[in-house]
Amino acid sequence: MNIPEIFGTDVFNETVMQQRLPKPVYKALKKTIQDGTPLDIDVANVVAAAMKDWAVEKGCTHYTHWFQPMTGITAEKHDSFISPIGDGKVIMEFSGKELVKGEPDASSFPSGGLRATFEARGYTAWDPTSYAFIKGSSLCIPTAFCSYTGEALDKKTPMLRSMEALDKSAVRLLKLFGMDDVTRVTANVGPEQEYFLVDREMYSHRKDLILAGRTLFGAPAPKGQELEDHYFGTIKTRVNGYMEDLDEQLWRLGITAKTKHNEVAPAQHELAPVFNTTNIATDHNQIIMELMKRTARKHGFKCLLHEKPFAGINGSGKHNNWSLSTNTGINLLDPGKTPSENAVFLTFLVAVIKAVNDYQDLLRASVATAGNDHRLGANEAPPAIISIFLGDELNEIVEALAEGHKPEKHGKSYMEIGVDVLPNFPKDSTDRNRTSPFAFTGNKFEFRSPGSKLSCAGPMTILNTIVAEVLDQFYDKLKDADDFQDALDKLIKETIAENKRIIFNGDGYSEDWVKEAEKRGLLNLRSTPDAIPVYLYDKNIDVLSRHGVYSKVELESRVEILLDEYNKVINIEALTMIDMAKKDILPAVMSYIKDLSETAATAGALGADLTVEKELVTKLSSLAASTYKALTELEDAVAAVHNIESTEEAARYYHETILTKMGELRAPADQMEALCGEKYWPYPTYEQLLFYVK
Ligand code: ADP
Ligand code: MG
Repeated sequence: MNIPEIFGTDVFNETVMQQRLPKPVYKALKKTIQDGTPLDIDVANVVAAAMKDWAVEKGCTHYTHWFQPMTGITAEKHDSFISPIGDGKVIMEFSGKELVKGEPDASSFPSGGLRATFEARGYTAWDPTSYAFIKGSSLCIPTAFCSYTGEALDKKTPMLRSMEALDKSAVRLLKLFGMDDVTRVTANVGPEQEYFLVDREMYSHRKDLILAGRTLFGAPAPKGQELEDHYFGTIKTRVNGYMEDLDEQLWRLGITAKTKHNEVAPAQHELAPVFNTTNIATDHNQIIMELMKRTARKHGFKCLLHEKPFAGINGSGKHNNWSLSTNTGINLLDPGKTPSENAVFLTFLVAVIKAVNDYQDLLRASVATAGNDHRLGANEAPPAIISIFLGDELNEIVEALAEGHKPEKHGKSYMEIGVDVLPNFPKDSTDRNRTSPFAFTGNKFEFRSPGSKLSCAGPMTILNTIVAEVLDQFYDKLKDADDFQDALDKLIKETIAENKRIIFNGDGYSEDWVKEAEKRGLLNLRSTPDAIPVYLYDKNIDVLSRHGVYSKVELESRVEILLDEYNKVINIEALTMIDMAKKDILPAVMSYIKDLSETAATAGALGADLTVEKELVTKLSSLAASTYKALTELEDAVAAVHNIESTEEAARYYHETILTKMGELRAPADQMEALCGEKYWPYPTYEQLLFYVK
């Protein structure tokens, strides 16, 4: 395979545009992409025709506006290019109007009451900054999805707004540093995607995986991840075939799939592309997740993107590696090689520290889902408490600055902001702490809290916005300073001193940290119902609306959608458990008990010692009784949800009561699994699911 040759062949990218668009049209489009200027309809017409010709040559018959509603996955509605011309004939047509705007019947997407308040219909609008691409026989056009009164109904719109806010704030602040050539600052993300692969045949026998995406029952396998022999281990042939296939498809779509390896848990893997703008990377990540699932089917696998498919085994995250870059090619989170770069770096670094401290609640809320609660807030990395890891070298510098004395340079002289060069921070020395939710890793921050299934859009929208906010605060403090250098010095020192509590370089797993964090006044929002309502705190509505990212109404609708989704997920899980226990697990155990009893009767007649039979039958009968009791209680608890009117209250009830009762049902059932003969057990076991993929 010649990768450079196939790379991006299914994308209407830069090269294709240059080849197929008249120069002035190309220039106008380019300007729109770079500066966000509105696109003229005449230009759009030419672009649309060129796109259509290109797509039809590649075998396309349809086009679709591809968008990201609040379901967290992508949506598409395909229209063919055909247009009747009389005589029973058609031509293939695609107009600028169709390219720029679509009107899917969107009444069934979650809107959290938005459409009831405003308009019944939504429309999709072309996002020219993300290239159109081909999927199957359709030309896919990345779009934003809004109501007719302009409220965002999707995940892309707020993110585009947050990128704009950050761009504006950063460019303005950089002018004070004399960086007049910077006209654009872009937020980037490189999302590392973790996933599990299980055998499709085994998967098809597990109702819980099919309906809930995670196992709701399952005794631990004799072997777990304790040997750590899977991490970076040799990739099995069949898995490798899958990965190769996936890579090739991604490359064709211009997605820079770069790194792949086995993860810590058995059957767990990771794929990371090269980073891109938060917008494009988010689109690409959606395509990656979709292709991961589709390709799995081809190779006899099922790809599990759930955050915690198996109890007692590491869950899956989506580490968001985030940085800021200028149109002049500078990474603002790179310490850099000159004193002035050092000043800019420290300014942005402390801005991020302050932003994360001030808005830890929002960051936590941005990653809150029913699935992710099994990672955060359970005993698994990272914890629900948001903190920042800086690494030893940088921490030393930052601490010295906060205490007001100048950090020591290597070799006994003292470092001055904007006068001296910062030492380089080698990646390995900053990247060792894997338990931190938000770690500085040399020239970027790695936000590790997002769950594997989550769109990057939510967390990136929040991060972009809160950093924009602090950059604005900095601008206000610095803009009229008589002595810029002096004012900057003071600002950096003060900011570190005031926000130091968010910095933590120790073990994020430990109980000590939970206590220490509480002493520091850091938030520990363990569950989704704890986290989501913070969107509606005054300070949060204020920052998000002031930067034009979410209006108050949009936030209210999102809170409603997110909590409602949480409730539905747990409701499905509870009903699935009840069904499995009743229809499969108890009958299986009964049939084992019956066989044991019959064996005992026969053997007893021959005068055999019946200790084992008796003990097994007694134990299993007693566990079956506990299971049945727990099952009945769970049923009653689920039925009682209907008496609760408020979505938020229901979410608390799901968290506190239903989840607890689900645990009480799982415990005796898992014990029965451990005692029951394998051929009786109705489901493939953890051992089979995790280790038997050859
Ligand atoms: P690790 O597993 O060691 O954290 P990986 O190589 O798996 O690292 O993934 C790192 C991710 O970070 C990749 O997606 C990479 O493109 C991305 N990345 C690297 N540099 C930057 C940067 N400056 N800004 C944003 N993302 C970056
Ligand atoms: Mg990483």
